This record gives sequence, C-alpha cells and structure tokens, in this order.
Amino acid sequence: MKIAIDGPAGSGKSTVGATLAKHLNYLYFDTGVMYRAVTLAALQGKIALNDEAAISALAERAHITVSPPQDTDVDGRQYTVLLNGVDATWAIRSSDIDTNVSIPSAYPKVREAMVRQQRRIAEPGNVVMVGRDIGTVVLPDADLKIYLIASAEERARRRYEELQQRSQIADYNGILAALRHRDEIDSSRKTSPLKPASDAIILDCTRLSPEETAEQAMSLVLEKSNGLHLNGGGHLS
Ligand code: C5P
Repeated sequence: MKIAIDGPAGSGKSTVGATLAKHLNYLYFDTGVMYRAVTLAALQGKIALNDEAAISALAERAHITVSPPQDTDVDGRQYTVLLNGVDATWAIRSSDIDTNVSIPSAYPKVREAMVRQQRRIAEPGNVVMVGRDIGTVVLPDADLKIYLIASAEERARRRYEELQQRSQIADYNGILAALRHRDEIDSSRKTSPLKPASDAIILDCTRLSPEETAEQAMSLVLEKSNGLHLNGGGHLS
C-alpha cells in the first residue's frame, strides 16, 4: 500500500506517520524535510528568498538524503537528514526555517524538483509519505489518504510543550501566530496548495492523544487493506 498523510503544520502527521510505518514495517518519509533543507541551503548561501530563479536552481542542485539514525546518534532524532553531505537534521528545525520555509515551498520549480524525488522514493510501495500535497499531487493514486487536522490553538500548545521539553525558549502566542501564518501561505499558494484530496479521510485529532490518533489511523489502514483483499486489489498479498 501507499499511504498519504497531509495536513497543516503541527497537526501530528509525523508522529502518526512514523507510528503507522513502524507497525506496518513500511518506509516512512516526511517530505517537509526536503523543503526545509532547500530553505536552509538558501539561508546558508545568502540567497534572497524572493529570488525565485536562484532558489529554483538551488533546489535542482541540492543533494538531500534521509536515512535511519546510526547507533551513535543519541540525540532523539527520528532520521538523519544530509544536505550536500552535511548533517542538517536539527538545523532544519530551527525557528528561522519555520518562519521562512513556506516561501521556497511555493515556487513551482522547487516543487517539481522535490516531487520528482518523492515519487521515486514512493515508487516501490509500502510507504507512508507525509506532507501537504501527497494525496493531491505526489501520490494521487495512494491507497489511503488521511488528512489530519487539529485546532490552531491545540497545535500551538503541542509545539509549545515540545519546545519546553527540549529546554528551548517558547512563546505560545508567537508559535500560534507563526503556525497560522505558515498555514495561510501553504493553503493559498497557486501550486499544490495545502488541501484535502477529494478522496481523503479527514481525521480531527484536536481531542485525541497521539496514541489515540495513531490507533484511529491504524483502523483506517486495516479497513482499507481488508477492502483491497475483498475487492481483489492487487497491492496486498
Ligand atoms: O511538515 P513540515 O512542517 O516540516 O513542512 C515544512 C513546510 O514545507 C510546510 O510549511 C510547507 O511550506 C512545506 N511543505 C510543502 N509540501 C510538502 C511538505 C512540506 O509545501 N509536501
């Protein structure tokens, strides 16, 4: 099966996606890291984020790899992201990247370059791919599409707690404003805006714990896989 999980910033897509992938022994791939890595490359290279041509060329050139952590990586990472061979796992999570990532993400040529790689990664199947346009653009033929939502306040509260747990300075109102701003840009861009695919199942996790959300998502997977068996769907054996 190919499973697509989309939704706004901080809705818990990565936790659900990683949990499903672990249970199913599927590949988990978080496409957000690619847009974050392009943004990091632009900031490091001092390329103006409004220079669409330069950023697009940079996205074509950027070599981004995502791999499982090594035994020596004991800093809580889910995976290791290399940007042009250099470890960028934590650098792409900075608030600077959070603030700016939606700008390069809106450029059609940047998206083309990223989507090409994402489709290649998903091609063998048995994958859980997470992002904003997976169900609509990257994998329109995904077997299951989940669109995860939660209120902006709840998403901000979770992000705030996460930062506090990592002993980082956190400002709830600032986080809430930044989330809303990012969602606004992601949903209103012309190319591949954030929206549910017409055949996506909307899962509202505002009042659910991460475990409950993962359980509900897993039931959707089971329902789907039973359906594929009954219909003689060729993907599962
Ligand atoms: O999911 P995450 O918050 O890491 O995504 C960071 C940003 O990357 C999003 O706000 C969005 O601008 C962009 N993105 C995207 N399409 C995806 C995944 C992420 O435009 N499939």
